[in-house]
Amino acid sequence: MREIPVDVLIIGAGAAGMGAALGAAREGVQKVVVIEREDRSGGILNQCIHNGFGLHYFREELTGPEYAERIRSILRDYENVEFKGEQFVKQIDYKNKTVVVVSREGIVLYKPKTLIVATGARERPMGGILLPGTRPAGIFTAGVAQRWINLENRKPGNRAVIIGSGDIGLIMARRLTLEGIKVEAVVERMPYPGGLERNIRQCLKDFDIPLYLSHTVIEVRGKDRVEEVVIAELDDNFKPIAGTEKVFKVDTLVLSVGLIPQTNLFKDFLQTDPWTKGIMCTSSGRTSMNWIFAAGNCTVIYDLVDWVTEEGEKAGKYAAFFVKKEHEMARFPVEKGQNIGILFPNYYEEGTNLSLYLRVKKPMERGIVRVKQRNNLLYNKLHANLMPSEMINVRIPEPKIGVGNIVVEVIEA
Ligand SMILES: Cc1cc2nc3c(=O)[nH]c(=O)nc-3n(C[C@H](O)[C@H](O)[C@H](O)COP(=O)(O)OP(=O)(O)OC[C@H]3O[C@@H](n4cnc5c(N)ncnc54)[C@H](O)[C@@H]3O)c2cc1C
Repeated sequence: MREIPVDVLIIGAGAAGMGAALGAAREGVQKVVVIEREDRSGGILNQCIHNGFGLHYFREELTGPEYAERIRSILRDYENVEFKGEQFVKQIDYKNKTVVVVSREGIVLYKPKTLIVATGARERPMGGILLPGTRPAGIFTAGVAQRWINLENRKPGNRAVIIGSGDIGLIMARRLTLEGIKVEAVVERMPYPGGLERNIRQCLKDFDIPLYLSHTVIEVRGKDRVEEVVIAELDDNFKPIAGTEKVFKVDTLVLSVGLIPQTNLFKDFLQTDPWTKGIMCTSSGRTSMNWIFAAGNCTVIYDLVDWVTEEGEKAGKYAAFFVKKEHEMARFPVEKGQNIGILFPNYYEEGTNLSLYLRVKKPMERGIVRVKQRNNLLYNKLHANLMPSEMINVRIPEPKIGVGNIVVEVIEA
């Protein structure tokens, strides 16, 4: 088998992988190789043709493909970066530090000094929500429906119900409507929407698409193709309330019920978060193995691509430092306090700035986000309208941070 030594090997060329390539290339390492199973870089951005990308990073509102092209064009200036499309990472031997890559050219063994995981996320499938009823054609995950419409010019159906009111579900409600598919309902089991307020307005209200909160699908009917979808209201224990059933005559059901970090290749040897299922990292993007870094949706599901790019850049920079033989610093756990649902990174690594990403567990009209290290208050700020669907980013510069565990909490104001 052909063996290729490289300085930095990146798996995945989405926003995180491209950001990582940029971060590593800027530090001047000799050879950065990005492996991507698709024929082009960009990842999920390529099928997100709506706008809303890049407001922080480029200070401009771009579509997904435009955002990807901007980063691609920056990367073209770096001769030390090589993009390898239509190549699939099959296996990693963490003991011998080798990576098996399969492509039409055959099987190649990469020997990287450091590895960056940027494999993104996968969609929670139908089996993941125990959907009752038959299993006819016409049931799609949101990502597949989006790919059909935006990349393959195929129409998934004529009348649809969408399960899940996260941003992806909302964006797909608008997209299906614009393609002439009647969206009868967006159904959400929680009493509040899962997506950003601006998406509720722009994707549902502007198109008169009904949102059913505290509802779920209790039956899918149909033999060859979906014929009816039955929904019902849920009580406080998430049990359907008898007599509240509504029947929609639709041929399509779109599931937008969550993204799960893509960690199959690594979960046997990298520490993953039991709650988020993402790869656990320090504030430099370093995983539980000092030569492997990770960034993007394989670590935690982000709201904004801008943050994914930044985290990728950071992982790239510290991976390059590792190649230059800089030593790993001490790490301290970052712990969840009151009303914290999601928290990332999992550890603070000395000598780095701390960019924290958090989601509250329960909505709060006014809450104080507090970050403490022993008796030292690192951050203490009032936030309004805190929702689990909206990720909060808190940045704490390195000089403010000392030694010891860091605790993050959100308390009622
Ligand atoms: C529908 C939708 C709408 C969104 N809307 C917005 C928005 O309006 N604004 C915004 O800022 N953000 C938005 N986001 C979020 C943002 O786009 C994502 O968070 C970001 O693009 C994720 O980047 P990533 O690199 O982590 O993952 P991905 O883009 O998923 O990239 C991962 C890459 O890894 C590759 N890969 C995986 N495994 C392997 C392997 N074994 N071998 C080779 N390659 C592999 C995949 O092919 C893929 O290209 C949206 C996301 C979605 C899904």
